[in-house]
Amino acid sequence: MVKRNVLLNPGPSTTTDTVKMAQIVPDICPREKEFADLMKGLRADLLGIVHANAEKYTSVLFCGSGTINIDVCLNSLLPADKKVLVVDNGAYSARAAEICKYYGLPHIDLKFSVNSRPDLAAVERALKDNPDVYIVHTTHNETGTGLLNPIREIGALAHKYGAIFTVDTTSSLAMIPIDIEKDNIDFCMASAQKGIMAMTGLSFIIGNRAEIEKSKDYPKRSYYCNLFRQFDYFEKTGEMNFTPPVQTVYATIQALKEYYAEGETAKWARHTRVFNAIHEGLDKLGFKDFIPREMQSGLVVAALYPDDDNWDFMKVHDYCYERGFTIYPGKVEKKGMFRLCALGAIDVQDIKDFFKVFEEALKVNGIKIPVVYKEN
Ligand SMILES: *Cc1c(COP(=O)(O)O)cnc(C)c1O
Repeated sequence: MVKRNVLLNPGPSTTTDTVKMAQIVPDICPREKEFADLMKGLRADLLGIVHANAEKYTSVLFCGSGTINIDVCLNSLLPADKKVLVVDNGAYSARAAEICKYYGLPHIDLKFSVNSRPDLAAVERALKDNPDVYIVHTTHNETGTGLLNPIREIGALAHKYGAIFTVDTTSSLAMIPIDIEKDNIDFCMASAQKGIMAMTGLSFIIGNRAEIEKSKDYPKRSYYCNLFRQFDYFEKTGEMNFTPPVQTVYATIQALKEYYAEGETAKWARHTRVFNAIHEGLDKLGFKDFIPREMQSGLVVAALYPDDDNWDFMKVHDYCYERGFTIYPGKVEKKGMFRLCALGAIDVQDIKDFFKVFEEALKVNGIKIPVVYKEN
C-alpha cells in the first residue's frame, strides 16, 4: 500500500493503487515488438475516448508534459504563408499564442476577458477579415479559471471559413464527454496524468489523419516536436521516434482499462458529484467563485481569497498538505484566488474529509467563518 494523497490541484491527479503498481514491471527495451504492440493497443484505446473513427483519425504519442502537444500541433500543422487564430480567454490559450511567437508563426492573438466566454461574432469577423487563417486554436476547459469554452461553435466557425480546429482538451478529455466529429474538432490533445488518471510523462494528440499526411511538406520548424515525423515513425515501426516513457506507458494502459470499466457516463457523473461537493463545501464557508457558475466546466473551481488579514494561502495549503490534501493557487494575474479541482480517482467522501481539514485550517489561522469580502 502506498500512502493515498487527495490531489485537488489541476493535475497530475490522484491515481488508483492498481495504476501505480502497473509501473512495476520487468525491465524491457522499448524497441522490442512486445512493447510496440502495447503502444498499438494504447493508441487505439485513446481514439475510443473521443469516439474517433480509426480510418479518419489517429493518435500520436509523445514523451513530454501536456504543453508538448500544443507546441507540436501549432508548429507542425501550419502551411507556409498561413496564419494561426488563437481564441484566447485564459492562461492556456495565452500559452498557445506564446508558442506561435517563439516559432515566429504568423498569428492573431484574439484576446477576450478571462472570466467570460469568447464573443463568437468577433471570432467570425477575424476569420472573415483573415482568409489566410489555417488553424483556429482554443482551450476547452481553461484550467486557470475553470471556464468552459464553446468548442463546437468555434469549430463550426473554423470549418465555415476553411480552417482546421485544434483544441487543447488537456484538462477535459476523458472527463467531459467529447465526440471529435460532432464537436467539430480536427485535433485534440491531453496527457496521461489528467483525465485518464495515469502518470506524468506521456502526452498524446488525437487528430485527422489526412491533415497530418498533408503536413509532410509544410515548413519544418522543430526536429523533436514534429507531428508528421512522429506519426510516420509510428506507422512504419509501431514505435516512438525516440525513447518512450516506458513505465508511464504501462500505467496508462492500466488506467485505460479502468477508464473503460468505469465508463464515460459514470465517470463524468462522478466528476460532477465531486465538483458539486466542492461547491457545497465552499458555499458553506462563504467563499465566492471567480467565474459565474453557469460558465464553469464542472472540473475546476477558482475561489477568491477572502478579505481577511489572517488569510495566508500558503499557511492554509501547508496545513492541508500535511494531512494529505493538496490545494492549488490561482492562475490569473493580480487576482488572489485558489483552485479546487474535481480530477482524479476521488469521490464525494474525499471532499467531505477535505473540508473538515480545510475548515480546521481556517480556524487555526484565525480566519473568520463565514469568510468575509469587502463590498465592491
Ligand atoms: C495541464 C494543462 C496543460 C499542460 O501543462 P503541462 O504543465 O505541460 O503538463 C495544457 N493545457 C491545459 C488546458 C492544461 O490544463
